[in-house]
Amino acid sequence: MNRTEKDCINDLFQDSVIDRIPYTVPINPEARPYEPGYDWAAHGYDELDDNVKWDTHEGDYYIDGVLYCAHCHTPKQHVRDWQGKTYRFPIPCQCQKEALGRQEQKIKRRKAMEKALRYRELGFSDEVLKNWTFARDDGASPKYTAIMKRYVEHFSECRAKGQGLLLYGSCGSGKTYAAAAIANALIEQGIPCLVSNFDRLFDKLMAPKAQRTMEVEDLNKFELLVLDDLDAEADNKYVDNMMFRIVDARYRAGLPMIITTNLTKQDLLSPRSVAKKRVYDRILERCCPVEMTGANRRAKAMQDNILDMKKLLGIG
Ligand SMILES: [Zn+2]
Repeated sequence: MNRTEKDCINDLFQDSVIDRIPYTVPINPEARPYEPGYDWAAHGYDELDDNVKWDTHEGDYYIDGVLYCAHCHTPKQHVRDWQGKTYRFPIPCQCQKEALGRQEQKIKRRKAMEKALRYRELGFSDEVLKNWTFARDDGASPKYTAIMKRYVEHFSECRAKGQGLLLYGSCGSGKTYAAAAIANALIEQGIPCLVSNFDRLFDKLMAPKAQRTMEVEDLNKFELLVLDDLDAEADNKYVDNMMFRIVDARYRAGLPMIITTNLTKQDLLSPRSVAKKRVYDRILERCCPVEMTGANRRAKAMQDNILDMKKLLGIG
């Protein structure tokens, strides 16, 4: 403790008896918390996360019989007189409280992450999809990447409003990649997301009741649901009905969705059936449409592949 702090305390408790707990061994600046010579007065519980203990440490002091922390100078005891007796209850000092807060945050984050990793296994059934992250983005469409990153940045606001995205446009424009990158980025923050498509969900949700492991409402455990390739699914009333149930469950729970589709704006605004219109209307109410156009990535990849092979084989 430096002179000024000491003076302050002495001023505050002018007439009090200050009884300091002596350091048993000389202060060693290299010592870690709980090692002999650790400078409690200088560091307090700053470096502690998992080992917070409430006992006294070297440098702590008693003022009129109440224990104070050597580092933050707040009490480590609550004193109460009751029926003629004085009781001293241990309480965390300010720096211990902060250390506990950090510990709690760490545990929360770890738990959320463990959950998210489980979800990732469940949702990203496609091994490739897992690697579709912003970090691996080829930079081909910086405009769209910026939009997607902004969605991640403002996710808590979008989440609160239940606002998602509808990524539509020509085949191969990177819609799935963009949606998966958002989900991956949020999963990294410990936010549970599911990336799937209607076909895959139909298999799970429309299985015979005895074998069914998932109900429509279970999808609401995910803060973000990414549904890839809307309208690629078969055309029948069971499918349309299930599609509506999925979209409507999210809508009612106020939870966001990101949907990708090869449908055009015209297709979305004037669907080919009333059943589809019901689904699209719900989607358009909560998903901000983003038209994605651009070079066909899949075609380009295929072309690159052919060029590589030609080079390898010495053709042309
Ligand atoms: Zn303290």
